[in-house]
Amino acid sequence: MVNHEWTVLLPAEIHPAGPKSIADIATTVSRDEYETRAQLLADADRFDAVITRTEPIDREFITAAFELEIISKHGVGYDNIDVDAATENGIPVTNTPGVNSRAVAEHAITLLLAVRRRLRLADGAVRSGTGERYDTVTDQFRNDTVGLYGYGDIGSEVASLVSSLGMDCLVYDPYVDESELAAHVTKVDPVADLFDRADAVSVHAPLTPETRAAISEAELGRLAPFGILINTARAEIVDRDALISSLEAGELSGVGIDVFADGPPSQAHPLLEYENAVLTPHIGAQTTEALTEMSRRSVNNVRSVHDGTMPETTLNGDELSSPLS
Ligand code: NAD
Repeated sequence: MVNHEWTVLLPAEIHPAGPKSIADIATTVSRDEYETRAQLLADADRFDAVITRTEPIDREFITAAFELEIISKHGVGYDNIDVDAATENGIPVTNTPGVNSRAVAEHAITLLLAVRRRLRLADGAVRSGTGERYDTVTDQFRNDTVGLYGYGDIGSEVASLVSSLGMDCLVYDPYVDESELAAHVTKVDPVADLFDRADAVSVHAPLTPETRAAISEAELGRLAPFGILINTARAEIVDRDALISSLEAGELSGVGIDVFADGPPSQAHPLLEYENAVLTPHIGAQTTEALTEMSRRSVNNVRSVHDGTMPETTLNGDELSSPLS
């Protein structure tokens, strides 16, 4: 059992419920205490734990923070953490799976409805006083087919919402067995079938070497001419140039995007040009419920390691050879 008080780095603010709950064993330090990354790195050996949202935890930081006992991800997707470097340094990496699934699923459906009903144009028409001076007529959703690229915690929540809206649901996920699918869901393989048969595809896979740019010209071409693409997973899964080309050629009815490479996009981002693109700044998991629970669980993982227990959600548990000290 470790008995000294820990110092926990919070690169970004998290809901206070978590930090409050470890006040008895740890002091939290905000990234804002450091003006530059160089200053942070110079001081990194004071940290016993880091709780990260989307901020990169790279090899350089991990090497400098040589007292680290845990890297705790507040959320699910851990592509911002160099897990190999953590493993080499004997540091467990944990996450909080499942906690934000409903929030992200609701957001994916919100984007889908907003794209189909052209909410950007509708809202603009009201605000500019131009009334119905755009094509206001859209198709209903009922009996549409929604394709899910990835059927994990979020994908399965989306499937249940899709079904409750009266739409059919197809899933492409090479790592999920047919027996694990809900009754109203149909598995398809190869991936081309998903894009051929769906009216809209929603992306819910992690960013991995396999999924990087996996949705490109060929897949988007199969959605044409009336398809919708929703991405609340990671920007890099969809080839950006292919997406822009499809929009430019009018091959997609519209897109709903919550995720951008390297954080919020600049005003020069080409997606901003398209009125049929509904864009949100990575807010999929931004509900009170999800934020509170992600904070609690990511902090609980820190407490577990502090108390000498490997959290259940340790991502590199098998690879770590030495026991926790
Ligand atoms: P999960 O691990 O429960 O599910 C991911 C699913 O993707 C798994 O079933 C897996 O088998 C599948 N998959 C893996 N490789 C695939 C491939 N090549 N093709 C198709 N499917 C594949 O994760 P989750 O909780 O459902 O989250 C999914 C992703 O959503 C996260 O990795 C994260 O990047 C993203 N996310 C975004 C937000 C947001 O705020 N927008 C919030 C949470 C998560």
